[in-house]
Amino acid sequence: SFLEYAPAPESTAVLNLKDSYGLFIDGEFVDGTGSSFTTISPSSEKRIAEIASASDEDIDRAVAAARRAYDKTWSKMSGRDRGKYLFRIARLVQERARELAVAESLDNGKPIKESRDVDVPLVASWFFYYAGWADKLDHAGLGANPRALGVAGQIIPWNFPLLMLAWKVAPALAAGSTVVLKPAETTPLTALIFAEILQQADLPAGVVNIVTGAGATGAALVRHPDVDKVAFTGSTGVGRDIARAVAGTPKKLTLELGGKAANIVFDDAPIDQAVEGIVNGIFFNQGHVCCAGSRLLVQESIHDEVIDRLKNRLSTLRLGDPLDKNTDIGAINSAAQLARIRELSDIGEAEGAERWTADCVIPEKGFWFAPTIFTGVEASHRIARDEVFGPVLSVLTFRTPAEAIAKANNTPYGLSAGIWSDKGSRILAVADRLRAGVIWANTFNRFDPSSPFGGYKESGYGREGGRQGLTAYLKGAAS
Ligand code: NAD
Repeated sequence: SFLEYAPAPESTAVLNLKDSYGLFIDGEFVDGTGSSFTTISPSSEKRIAEIASASDEDIDRAVAAARRAYDKTWSKMSGRDRGKYLFRIARLVQERARELAVAESLDNGKPIKESRDVDVPLVASWFFYYAGWADKLDHAGLGANPRALGVAGQIIPWNFPLLMLAWKVAPALAAGSTVVLKPAETTPLTALIFAEILQQADLPAGVVNIVTGAGATGAALVRHPDVDKVAFTGSTGVGRDIARAVAGTPKKLTLELGGKAANIVFDDAPIDQAVEGIVNGIFFNQGHVCCAGSRLLVQESIHDEVIDRLKNRLSTLRLGDPLDKNTDIGAINSAAQLARIRELSDIGEAEGAERWTADCVIPEKGFWFAPTIFTGVEASHRIARDEVFGPVLSVLTFRTPAEAIAKANNTPYGLSAGIWSDKGSRILAVADRLRAGVIWANTFNRFDPSSPFGGYKESGYGREGGRQGLTAYLKGAAS
């Protein structure tokens, strides 16, 4: 029973952390010229390390290093040799997998079983996948003489810190571009450990530079005149600011932004499987997932049965220490994100939806939010329209496939969707009419480096993953 359950935490002894971290520029950790900030663990609010905040001058240095590396080394190297570095990085990620998983859970708050079994293995697979592309570029039918873009400025969010880094760095390096990457300010740790891996891999200096800091550091990178391409993953609001900053410049831009995915469950769906898929869809990574299935659209005839089963299933989830191997729901990444989740949930209740919360013991320290379901949600409610980016499911109903499609598409976003049905013909017909970049059938939150990922509408443009993810870093290549 729960009462007898004894925690078995993963040990932070595998970590070899420094007390403070500088910026990773031109192959070395260097002091920044700006201020610094503290990264804390969201599950304990304890300090982890002091992190440099890159100033405009530091960004200049990092971009200059990336440019030099591009001109002198990386653009002159054969695809086969670039590939060797990528393979080496992938293997080092596997060798240091345990350490990376613990660091990710400590800094981000996600359960260790997710960072260990999902994030870190996917990171390695992204590097292996793009390593395989590097020596085939000239012969892959990508157009006449595809060439690297030059220097890429990459900005990533806090929800999958190391995985978002891999999505950005691996294709850029395979394509022959060099990189200046800015991690999110609440989760810089694994990017800095990754910098150590680059040193171990003997990657030529300046090919990847890591500049920590908050939004102002990201904005300086976007503005820098010697950056050829900006790749951004984050909120739609910041994405809009970046699009404005890049407009009128020759810079290429890809934007991976927010989402409000519909997870559509038809009455002929395999119910047990669908319930697991709904839980995974919205409670994986505390719902801090851009493609989270945050709107459940359930066919009216099975609504009550699905909700009963969902509540039973959620009652078995364990919330707590992210380093405990049995934890299902970890900490919310920051106090600011927790405040946003609380505010939108309170609005959901005030607007008339019925709120149900799983009965969890909330630890005293740290940022926590118990799995929550809202039933009776109307299309006009804020919790049906705004991205909560937390463990909060909004349930709506439909009667016919046409109504399901209309409701699913009734959102400014268009990143992903899920369809649960026993009929292949129905899945294909519905998928064809959904305006979403990624559509899962009888599963959810599945990622593979060979599958392009990206959105429609306010979820952004451009694709990451697969061949499209590679051509995004090439000049003159047909995607
Ligand atoms: P955010 O937009 O606040 O921050 C993302 C990154 O941008 C951070 O590194 C931040 O420091 C930086 N930044 C902030 N202001 C900036 C500016 N003016 N110029 C340049 N950089 C700036 O988003 P977040 O809160 O970190 O992440 C959550 C959001 O990310 C959610 O909306 C989520 O849906 C989205 N997301 C999308 C995907 C995707 O692939 N579509 C993946 C993960 C997260």
